[in-house]
Amino acid sequence: MKVFKFGGASVKDANGIKNVASIIEKYGEKNLVVVVSATGKTTNALEEVIHAYFKNEDAKAKFDIVKNNHHTICKDLFGNENHVVFDKLQNIYAEIDWQLEEDRKESYNYVYDQIVSQGELISSVILSAYLNEVGVANTWLDVRDVMKTDDTYREAIVDWTKTQALMNTVVKPLTKDSIAVTQGFIGCTAENCTTTLGREGSDYTAAIFANMLDAENQTIWKDVPGVMNGDPRVFDDAVFMDEISFNEAVEMTFYGATVIHPKTIKPLQNKNIPLLVKSFINPEGKGTKVGGNDNNLPPIRIVKNSQALITLHTKDFSFVEDDVVATIFNSFSKANLKLNMMQQGAISFEAVVDNIPEKIEKIKADLQDKFDFVIEENLSILTIRHYTNFDLINKHKGDKNAILEQRRPSTYQGLLV
Ligand code: ASP
Ligand code: MG
Repeated sequence: MKVFKFGGASVKDANGIKNVASIIEKYGEKNLVVVVSATGKTTNALEEVIHAYFKNEDAKAKFDIVKNNHHTICKDLFGNENHVVFDKLQNIYAEIDWQLEEDRKESYNYVYDQIVSQGELISSVILSAYLNEVGVANTWLDVRDVMKTDDTYREAIVDWTKTQALMNTVVKPLTKDSIAVTQGFIGCTAENCTTTLGREGSDYTAAIFANMLDAENQTIWKDVPGVMNGDPRVFDDAVFMDEISFNEAVEMTFYGATVIHPKTIKPLQNKNIPLLVKSFINPEGKGTKVGGNDNNLPPIRIVKNSQALITLHTKDFSFVEDDVVATIFNSFSKANLKLNMMQQGAISFEAVVDNIPEKIEKIKADLQDKFDFVIEENLSILTIRHYTNFDLINKHKGDKNAILEQRRPSTYQGLLV
């Protein structure tokens, strides 16, 4: 059993889908689950539909953009507009049209999931139909029939017991002689309402399949040759790494590397299932094996932008002792804002966070009786794992100043201004 995951960039247009089909044809046979994301920037476009709907603007016009994009892809792929795929898509669109006509607006997060999830349904229907067209037998699987979650819309939690049972009874027999083509990112409550697992969640969906089906491996097909020691758009000397351990991958995602979704590693690591990160542009390339060894890793550089430094001063000059720290942590936790770096002084505490103004305001409101706040914006965190010397750190700081620095033998972090 193998699991392939194709992200939005790989299926962004007709040529992309043709390429994905050729990869599936070449490297897959039966015993394969193909997990696909929405095409290109469709999820963002569907978010626009939702914004318009809630602001009572012309949501249908925004949705027409999504329909047109897919219409173009299908015309390029199938030529003939009488192809059954056009009817299938009409049925999906009808669901959204119906929702958009509704005046009664249910909760934002609920509506969000009902609409945004359609992107994956559309892309998977198109990919499955195209595979059939080119003679690659496959079965389209509605992932909502197996991926059972709670009702935390937009960040749904998977029910492992129920999902595992359905993997056994539905997916295992289905993949015995066939390829299953299904959707990433989405799930379903016990009441049959659609949920999503959080933005960019398709890697995670694939990892759940891999775990529950005891896959031999999972491949994420990307537009980079593998996992690199820095985002190639930021570091022009980035090189790709043959293999890294699960541990290194978790550390990298923790510090902000976006090559793999943070939740993806655990289900694979738990069953020691290797994750292969390969290029859909150059599928022959070796790619990176995550779940291997960390032999001679080069320095790994990660930059996190849009950071804010929040300095909290105790109003009554009391020391920042355990109870004060506990109060601060509690407030950040309630606002669901992660501390990316922190430093404690005598009567002050410095916290570096993603600059999300609503969340910061919440914390301010919560703690303003006890603390004065100073907030500095437009900062970035540079993390270097396995730095070899200070010249390297200075080179990467360039002409920026580090206003907070932390160094351990394995990891350097600087807050740059
Ligand atoms: N299409 C979803 C998103 O863009 C899920 C994914 O791409 O993994 O967030
Ligand atoms: Mg996507």
